[in-house]
Amino acid sequence: MRVLLVGSGGREHALATCLARSPGLSALFAAPGNPGMAEIATLVPLKANDVPGLIRFAQEQSIDLLVPGPEAPLVAGLADACAEAGIRCAGPTRAAALLEGSKAFTKEVADAAGIPTAKWERFDNEADALDFVRRRGAPIVVKADGLAAGKGVVVAQSVAEAEDAVRRLGMPLVIEECLVGREVSLFAFCADDKAVLIGAARDHKRLGEGDTGPNTGGMGAISPPPGFDRAAQEQALDLTVRPMLAEMVRRGTPFRGVIFAGLMLTEDGPRLIEYNVRFGDPEAQALLIRLESDLLPVLAALADGNLDNAAVTFSDKASISVVLAAKGYPDAPKKGGRITGIERAEAVPGVSVFHAGTKLADGVLVADGGRVLTVCATAPTMEDARHRAYEGVQAIQWDNGIFRRDIGV
Ligand code: ATP
Repeated sequence: MRVLLVGSGGREHALATCLARSPGLSALFAAPGNPGMAEIATLVPLKANDVPGLIRFAQEQSIDLLVPGPEAPLVAGLADACAEAGIRCAGPTRAAALLEGSKAFTKEVADAAGIPTAKWERFDNEADALDFVRRRGAPIVVKADGLAAGKGVVVAQSVAEAEDAVRRLGMPLVIEECLVGREVSLFAFCADDKAVLIGAARDHKRLGEGDTGPNTGGMGAISPPPGFDRAAQEQALDLTVRPMLAEMVRRGTPFRGVIFAGLMLTEDGPRLIEYNVRFGDPEAQALLIRLESDLLPVLAALADGNLDNAAVTFSDKASISVVLAAKGYPDAPKKGGRITGIERAEAVPGVSVFHAGTKLADGVLVADGGRVLTVCATAPTMEDARHRAYEGVQAIQWDNGIFRRDIGV
């Protein structure tokens, strides 16, 4: 099979690594990819959200399967354009990608499907929203309706903070009850009404140790989250994902792709916080290094809408991913700085290193973006996985790198 993988982050490098070892693969292209992916795929100089360019390339190169990594091209209609061009796509249509694109849509679907989630209301009018937060009191959660790259949510601890958020985020808004518990992310391959469990992870979004500092794209992840084993993950899938899939089929907009359900494990059981319509980064890296089965047939099967015979197996080890970002990330990441030692890091048992913001300058690997590398490790216990990952991190020489030392602690 000839595959075009879309994206250039650590998540896509991990996907590429799994695809590259598939016996069914005849050619792997990555658009735009990164230097790590260049070792196993042919890089194509097209942006991830250049939908017409990707379709043209896929047609010219007789691509059998397109695998989207990030959400932006999906929200922009990449899967719809693939369908029109007769190309299989392992990701959802624009209509189904609304599960990530609109919080109000997700809440409506959850309510219609009977999925437990925080009580909510949608507002188009600032005065009504202000009145609501004053009546309800704090804590309360104020969310911008559309995609806001993690910046559109305020968990307000006081009414004044909630009022501020209402004014700052603008309309339309979703305002919801504040849930209390431990957060986990649940992942599954989905096609129409069928979901096959991938696994669960917990990410670390804040820049600083002890979950302090600004929000980032993610500084690390562990999998599985302690106390959330595969039996609990299957139960959560029944409660929070399968009813959504049935509801999407009923609406005539079936979901095909990887679902990422953000859950709060409350005293009363799991509650849905949000869906994303793709793998998380760096959760994907931590999950995919434990994949034992062949990734390609399952992605092709979900693109075809038939996961009935999908064989998906993961090792039951623990895994961890630690992101190396450039100094100044997330606001003003410093570019440049030579990176060496990746091979030595990968010589540590169970360790894999995935590229994101790297580039080759005159044959030398240098940093070229915010999140630059993900160092992943798997081991029988989380403690061992953590030791291995940080041993891998220590083996990498790069003067401008920062990372959190408390992932998996
Ligand atoms: P991200 O980009 O981080 O995935 P997002 O902008 O899509 O986030 P949400 O996932 O809905 O938005 O919310 C971001 C974070 O806010 C959640 O991970 C969670 O920590 C917190 N949060 C959201 N809703 C609630 C809630 N109802 N109760 C408590 N915390 C919440």
